[in-house]
Amino acid sequence: KFITFEGGEGTGKSTQLKRLSERLRKSGIDVVTTREPGGTPGAEIIRRTILSGRVARLGPFAEALLMNAARDDHLNEVIRPALVSGSWVLCDRFADSTRAYQGTLGGVDSALLKALEKSVVGDDMPDLTLILDLDPEIGLTRARAATAAEAGEGASDRFEKEDIEQHRKLRQAFLDIARDEPDRCVLIDANRTVDEVAASIWEVVTDRLDV
Ligand code: C5P
Repeated sequence: KFITFEGGEGTGKSTQLKRLSERLRKSGIDVVTTREPGGTPGAEIIRRTILSGRVARLGPFAEALLMNAARDDHLNEVIRPALVSGSWVLCDRFADSTRAYQGTLGGVDSALLKALEKSVVGDDMPDLTLILDLDPEIGLTRARAATAAEAGEGASDRFEKEDIEQHRKLRQAFLDIARDEPDRCVLIDANRTVDEVAASIWEVVTDRLDV
């Protein structure tokens, strides 16, 4: 099974991904955890290129092409082989982030993005996408605290330049995806404690997939 985590900044995707992976492993399931952009050596180089906003700010179209290049490598080298071997794959961000960031926010033509997504992802869209939903005011406060603690990655460079309106748009983009694809996507209220969110994710996973 292929599960992706999506949502704005500071919604707790990586924390929840880790929690779910631990719980699945306890149930005896082989789990591969990974992230986008990134997940392979080549795709991590692309990640650094895209996120190093201070050095080289790329336009949304260039970003869309690079995201898809990174995704192609990630699918071929990590995701597809893991799924074929029977592992479950949990991925922090995937195609919906490209729709939201490069599409809705960046303004890249949606027909073109769809065509790219179709040729790169093909039949390997996630079985389940968990969309973590949170008021961006709260998310940004959480994300700033987290990047201050980690330092690096360049992620903070990106969101500090962008205003709250951008993040509201982003949230709406994810809400629209969840509404349009209810068979694949489930909206998760992320404005709760880590334990509460983890419990509701576990409920969704056991309800929708064979654990
Ligand atoms: O939230 P996470 O740390 O996974 O994402 C890293 C950064 O990558 C985020 O700040 C987000 O703005 C950016 N990103 C993007 N386009 C994507 C995926 C991620 O701009 N398709």
